[in-house]
Amino acid sequence: MVLKEMKRSISRVDSPGPMDSIIQKAMELGATSAVKIKAETVVVANWVRLKCQYGCGGWGRSLTCPPYSPTPEKMAEILGEYSSALLVQRAGSWPSIRENMSELERHAFLAGYYKAFALPSGPCRLCDECNTKEPCKHPREARPSMEACGIDVFGTARSAGMPIKVAMTKDDRPNFYGLLLLE
Ligand code: SF4
Repeated sequence: MVLKEMKRSISRVDSPGPMDSIIQKAMELGATSAVKIKAETVVVANWVRLKCQYGCGGWGRSLTCPPYSPTPEKMAEILGEYSSALLVQRAGSWPSIRENMSELERHAFLAGYYKAFALPSGPCRLCDECNTKEPCKHPREARPSMEACGIDVFGTARSAGMPIKVAMTKDDRPNFYGLLLLE
């Protein structure tokens, strides 16, 4: 299954080279699939911030979450400075995708993508409690999630043809996503 997904992912890459190694690394780190997309297809919307502010207990509790993370407006500007991105999907577990995205960012950086920047999912859990009055204790690993920056994860995944749906019960096995900005 993983091999099949990997082949599918690689077949969608435009050219061979460092990108292949980044996709392979994503799969080694436990991704279910990873697809190269154009940065301009990443969907950013103001309503995403609304969901963080009214509905998520993480608002203001982590340096990687709003109001500390980039606003949707800022994120749209940042995306304009990138040509491509890797959308990484993992079925069933978000802690590992959070931890692995910064490792993937480092791999991409060393492969020559000097602007590589990872956006995982969910709140940062590297510290038991985040002291938002002090600088981050793990700046090399801590990254804001896609949704914390106003990225519409559903819209972005669907436009890439990737599976995503609302989890209706605790037994549902959701898909989690991370985005690696590349150039
Ligand atoms: S690594 Fe620690 S200090 Fe940095 S954002 Fe995460 S929880 Fe906060």
